[in-house]
Amino acid sequence: MPVLGIDVGGTKIAAGLVTEQAEILHSEVAPTRAGEGYAVSLGQVYAAIRACLSPEVRAIGICAPGPLNPKTGVVLNPPNLPGWRDVPLAGLVSREFGLPCSLENDANAAGLAETRFGAARGCSSVFYITLSTGIGTGIILDGRIYHGKNGQAGEGGHVTIDYQSAERCGCGLPGCIEALASGTALARRGLAPEKLAAAAQAGDAASLEVLEELAQRLGAWLGGMISLLDPDVVVIGGGLSRMGEPLFARLRRIAPQRSINQFAASTPIVPAQLGERVGILGAASVVL
Ligand SMILES: [Zn+2]
Repeated sequence: MPVLGIDVGGTKIAAGLVTEQAEILHSEVAPTRAGEGYAVSLGQVYAAIRACLSPEVRAIGICAPGPLNPKTGVVLNPPNLPGWRDVPLAGLVSREFGLPCSLENDANAAGLAETRFGAARGCSSVFYITLSTGIGTGIILDGRIYHGKNGQAGEGGHVTIDYQSAERCGCGLPGCIEALASGTALARRGLAPEKLAAAAQAGDAASLEVLEELAQRLGAWLGGMISLLDPDVVVIGGGLSRMGEPLFARLRRIAPQRSINQFAASTPIVPAQLGERVGILGAASVVL
């Protein structure tokens, strides 16, 4: 029996009809009209679901940017969905379509999808990272998303790596890894990730320096995450992961130097495999 997965993001809303084997049978993508307010974007969510719905669908999985509460299905106040405040999204969708519905944080959902169907298949403990405009992370322990007491666990992007940093994060705190090593941090220096990796590979000294600094920051943080979690594997997705080997090789070298875990060097650090499909598959995997 298929399920329906819908990824509600600040830039796009993507829905898909997904089989138990994670095949996407049909999908719909639309740019989020986030600036037009809550009612309009909620209408877009309903329209995307309606466009993918079939009579056999047994459940709907939703992923959305945090903060949200996966236990109650409530979207709290995500910065990139203006006007969405304390929205009981799982309940609203469930009532509208008469189907069971679950809500999950997008990075947690992506981590679960990579664990079930992607780069971490067969692993039980996974640290997943979306390296993009922000840094989202998900912790999978024993094959399940680790939620913590209030459903707020796994916000690894907001771990402080420089408590005296002048760089303030979108969350309001200084020196989060997201403030220092995300796509936004690179953009502040006028750099696009793909160009950075290519220029560094070609030996451009300035690009090499930026890449090395980025890798040192991410590597130190990742070493700490490996000390904390001792995962089977670290999976990295998102736009910055497209830098490929120039970034990954550095992280594999630096993270073990920054970890007390004596097995850190044998912890695989690998690129995500689901690519563009991760939003829909992530949402679907919450109810699969
Ligand atoms: Zn932060």
